[in-house]
Amino acid sequence: MFLTGKRALVTGSTSGIGLAVARALHAEGADVVLNGFGDADEIAALKDELYADHWDSDLTDVAAIEAMMAGAGEIDILVNNAGMQHVAPIDEFPVDKWDKIIALNLSAAFHTIRLALPAMKEKGWGRIINTASAHSLVASPFKSAYVAAKHGIAGLTKTVALEVAEKGVTVNAISPGYVWTPLVENQIPDTMKARGMSREQVINDVLLAKQPTKDFVQPEDIGAMAVFLCRDEARNVNGANWSIDGGWTAD
Ligand code: NAD
Repeated sequence: MFLTGKRALVTGSTSGIGLAVARALHAEGADVVLNGFGDADEIAALKDELYADHWDSDLTDVAAIEAMMAGAGEIDILVNNAGMQHVAPIDEFPVDKWDKIIALNLSAAFHTIRLALPAMKEKGWGRIINTASAHSLVASPFKSAYVAAKHGIAGLTKTVALEVAEKGVTVNAISPGYVWTPLVENQIPDTMKARGMSREQVINDVLLAKQPTKDFVQPEDIGAMAVFLCRDEARNVNGANWSIDGGWTAD
């Protein structure tokens, strides 16, 4: 329970990877603040399970981010995880989807970081963990906004890491390959359309084809990595982009 007394905000934590990270931090004693959308009863059950606060703020809206950061209390561990995907050729890519993906997958982290950092610097301790992606390191066709935003968050991670290096704060990215969550499941129909493939072909020939282990990463694996980054032994892990992708980006 080495995180007892620490307050952790995990964005996009009502589902998938963010929920697993929130559970892992809670298991080590952190007070967890949840964020994200979903069924009201399911969110109420999560709040009970994790003794957590919940903010349903839309992180594509700067004013909503500012309200959440002002109300959520001083944050010791900030996990920028909320994200979305859209799959389409660039000349057919809906402009509103581009704007939303850049706002959520990249700009939201700029805003939460700028608002959380003063308290971390004051205390001389903080952890910022950005859920990036294998797509922060390599590209795939038809994912222009996502790949651009994820490459952006990799750069943001390194920049802030250098700025806070002497303040007891570390800033790192975790870059998963394919994790079986609603975000991945929901992109299958559009990928079928963009590539003219069946569901099975998309799973085996597009998704797992990238991942040499032929194995989906589990959300809990990412929770464990986030917990390690919070440990004292990880105080010199700073500005890193940790792949957990079965070897995808080694290729
Ligand atoms: P998910 O769809 O299961 O969860 C997304 C979360 O973000 C949910 O809690 C949702 O409510 C929240 N969210 C969506 N739009 C929001 C908004 N406008 N404001 C606030 N919250 C919002 O997805 P996931 O797979 O768990 O993805 C989490 C992160 O991991 C994302 O940044 C994603 O890009 C990244 N990632 C996922 C995979 C994968 O294979 N699943 C791989 C690499 C990186």
